[in-house]
Amino acid sequence: MKTTRVDALHANEPQYCTGKPCKQGHLAPRSTISCECVACRKAWMQHTQARTKALRAHFKTMKIEGVAVETRPILTAALKRGWA
Ligand SMILES: [Zn+2]
Repeated sequence: MKTTRVDALHANEPQYCTGKPCKQGHLAPRSTISCECVACRKAWMQHTQARTKALRAHFKTMKIEGVAVETRPILTAALKRGWA
């Protein structure tokens, strides 16, 4: 694996590893395209998926129980975006 982003770009490799820890202290490879630490990206994805799941469950409960009129636009917007 290449140690610099430029080398990885020239070699057309998806990841490179500098050997230095990221801001969060991971010693993981980085994405050549976005420069993101792979471990940070994975942690962020897990966080987002957990949040989406919780929101979906919350809105599902709201749908079952019935919600106040003033919160319906928020629920509608969430449904349109696929959060509920
Ligand atoms: Zn990281």
